[in-house]
Amino acid sequence: MKKHYDLIAIGAGSGGLSIAEHAAQHGASCAVVESGRLGGTCVNVGCVPKKVMWNAAMLAHALRDAPDYAFEVSRGDFDWATLKRKRDAYVGNINDWYETYLKDSDIDLIRGHARFLDAHTLRADGQALSAEHIVIAPGTRPILPDIPGARLGITSDGFFELREVPRRVAIAGSGYIAVELAGVLNALGAEVSLFLRNQHLLREFDAMLREGLMEAMLDDGINILPMTRIAAVSRENDDKLRLELDNGQLLADYDQLIWAIGREPNADRLDLAKAGVETDSRGFVPVDGWQNTSVPGIYALGDIIGKAQLTPVAIAAARRLGDRLFGNQPERRLDYDLIPSVVFSHPPIATVGLSEDEARARHGDAVRIYQSRFTPMYHAFTRHPVKVSMKLVTVGAREKVVGCHVIGMGADEMLQGFAVAMRMGATKRDFDDTIAIHPTGAEELVTMR
Ligand SMILES: Cc1cc2nc3c(=O)[nH]c(=O)nc-3n(C[C@H](O)[C@H](O)[C@H](O)COP(=O)(O)OP(=O)(O)OC[C@H]3O[C@@H](n4cnc5c(N)ncnc54)[C@H](O)[C@@H]3O)c2cc1C
Repeated sequence: MKKHYDLIAIGAGSGGLSIAEHAAQHGASCAVVESGRLGGTCVNVGCVPKKVMWNAAMLAHALRDAPDYAFEVSRGDFDWATLKRKRDAYVGNINDWYETYLKDSDIDLIRGHARFLDAHTLRADGQALSAEHIVIAPGTRPILPDIPGARLGITSDGFFELREVPRRVAIAGSGYIAVELAGVLNALGAEVSLFLRNQHLLREFDAMLREGLMEAMLDDGINILPMTRIAAVSRENDDKLRLELDNGQLLADYDQLIWAIGREPNADRLDLAKAGVETDSRGFVPVDGWQNTSVPGIYALGDIIGKAQLTPVAIAAARRLGDRLFGNQPERRLDYDLIPSVVFSHPPIATVGLSEDEARARHGDAVRIYQSRFTPMYHAFTRHPVKVSMKLVTVGAREKVVGCHVIGMGADEMLQGFAVAMRMGATKRDFDDTIAIHPTGAEELVTMR
């Protein structure tokens, strides 16, 4: 017999779980279909295990600095396998917690791969499921390039399967995942080479952040190769990987190659055409400002819509959609402007709003920039000082703050509150009128001249 619900979510990741949870809280009958592990990318192969590794890498940096603070310590060995075991157990607990939570919330969990039969019906786990509202939230998967031997490399998913620190690693990619993995591996003892197809890493970020990170990574001993394309990969007799570049150059002796060159949508195996849902040229599912797809009653959110691919964005879109569909709040929707985000690099980057280049392209001479670069007090004592750089981008006579960018120690925990102020329309004067917290790095943001 066909089961009928008020709402079915495809995918139990950040977006799918949140919409089902929120709709159920409003009294809707809900189901979630999941073909993999509960929690999706963020919990299993994204934010959560990544942050564990970043924390370990930060400890490695702290151990390096400890003698400068008069501690008699040496770094000692790092046991990757033990940390992986603990990390996997932590993630496993989150998976289990979600399962219990769904049960307690009366949300049906259907294990299987969902496909559309028509605009209101799905097939999954051998059964037909129908709903008034269907939310497409299947996320994305990492891509491999179409070159000989590409499969000899791994992706970020494979990074989380590694059982030991690879001695020599090549990472291809220039986005945040590439720089984060490079930083972690480097701090935990690998020799890392980062292959960029273009000149810059983090191409879409403010130039100050890009340049600051490039400098810090080079300083940390990461080998960065701009304008380099890997054309083929092969395995040598000693089991090492050999990379052939498009200029014919051969680079040998790599233990691992990690592709971090982008992600593609999990929309191709959903039979979207049977429901009439349109996709864009890259295969993502476009939506309007209310998460509506091209078909009434079918919505999309999270990474599958192809923009602002972050967990809190998927959750926020889901909660607002739940309020709109079942909470009697017809105008409730997510504003995709001013989304703050952090790159867990070494040092971390935090950014919200327009980069200087974007602001100048939009507002021309009305833009005024405030910038600061300094050595934080922590590093006044260390032999390995890492600078902090900050930038405020303001617009107009009132100097409304439209961009705030920080790279350096503590940036990751610094920006959340400033993002609130910017949403409320804060001006440079508001920043100036706020009393500094001393001695911190963040105080620079309210004392810039
Ligand atoms: C290495 C890495 C690090 C990241 N770090 C951060 C970070 O620090 N901060 C941050 O905010 N974001 C981070 N992200 C991004 C974040 O993980 C995603 O934005 C978020 O998970 C998107 O949620 P989603 O619900 O759209 O998709 P997902 O979380 O990917 O969930 C989709 C789910 O749908 C399932 N599925 C797919 N197709 C079907 C089908 N046909 N039937 C049933 N189930 C299906 C999948 O198995 C998956 O579980 C990171 C991502 C990666 C890869």
